[in-house]
Amino acid sequence: MISFLSLKDVTALHGAEINEAVSRVVNGGWYLQGKENEKFETNYAQFIGCKYCIGCANGLDALIWIFRAYIEMGVMQPGDEVIVPANTYIATILAITENGLKPILIEPKVNTLEIDDNLIEAAITPKTKAITIVHLYGRDAYTEKIGSLCRKYNLKLIEDNAQAHGCKHTDGRITGSIGDAAGHSFYPGKNLGALGDGGAVTTNDYDLATTVRALANYGSQKKYVFKYTGRNSRLDEIQAAVLDVKLKYLVDDNAHRKMVANYYYNHINNNLITLPDRLNDDLNVYHLFPILVSEGKRDALHDYLEQNGVGTMIHYPIAPHKQECYKEWNSMRLPITEQIANEELSLPIGPSINEEEINYIINLINGFK
Ligand SMILES: *Cc1c(COP(=O)(O)O)cnc(C)c1O
Repeated sequence: MISFLSLKDVTALHGAEINEAVSRVVNGGWYLQGKENEKFETNYAQFIGCKYCIGCANGLDALIWIFRAYIEMGVMQPGDEVIVPANTYIATILAITENGLKPILIEPKVNTLEIDDNLIEAAITPKTKAITIVHLYGRDAYTEKIGSLCRKYNLKLIEDNAQAHGCKHTDGRITGSIGDAAGHSFYPGKNLGALGDGGAVTTNDYDLATTVRALANYGSQKKYVFKYTGRNSRLDEIQAAVLDVKLKYLVDDNAHRKMVANYYYNHINNNLITLPDRLNDDLNVYHLFPILVSEGKRDALHDYLEQNGVGTMIHYPIAPHKQECYKEWNSMRLPITEQIANEELSLPIGPSINEEEINYIINLINGFK
């Protein structure tokens, strides 16, 4: 059986060092807000190319804190609009609605699977305060056009970098350093994954950084003094220590993903299957390897691969606007987003899968009718 992603194998790649880091924290007796967080935050900020990194409990919180901080800073207020791709993981949208802001859903391009920058300007109103881009599947979603719209209309650019640790834009900037602020997730299955939940905000904005840090720590900047009604949303020392180990290997692990993707791109040959436009390797860290399966055969391909011992997943089977939690959008028509939800299938990819397994998967896929 080739599982979609074996976290056990991924952890084992750097197992000795991870175990050593965990033991160091366990035996050190200091479990929150200590040296491990400081060290990881410094190293991750440097890796991304930002002045500030604030560790927090998970990726959803990271995004929630960015919007909440802008509200506390007076940059946004509840009721304001935030432009966001319609085809994203629900967390991106939840972070906006959680703050009383209004998501304006924008269709992606079917050949890139990323937000269609041609549709953004028409959606901007006097209430628009930000554009959120999502580097979905590990692909760079930023375009110069998005940057110039932000400047023209004085909008904040917020990046959801949960799936794209180490991804670059064509100008060499690392995703997460391009916008005004970025939310990162260290969910175990992400390219940089913890052994539990974790997240971070990166930014070059000092006011935003200090506000986010306070919000994620009960709203406090000084012990027992509360400036905001925050929450407990901290990254623990064990996760920070694990992440600091894995950060050293992120570039190599991403290179392995690129090698796997290269195999897929060069050898998948089946008329039912469309691969997204191939980006230069710097612009894609292949968090996932999405394919589109036509003629309503996506679920059949999933089952066929499963029967032959290959695990695949769908990202994501129900678009946010079709979810029960957002009933008010259920009648909206977003054909590209819906097409992707109906046709997308993610093939196994990750730092621990080997050539033999990839060849086996490719042969199966090419034989599918
Ligand atoms: C994983 C993910 C998140 C949320 O991260 P958690 O750490 O699971 O809360 C947000 N946005 C996207 C695009 C994600 O893939």
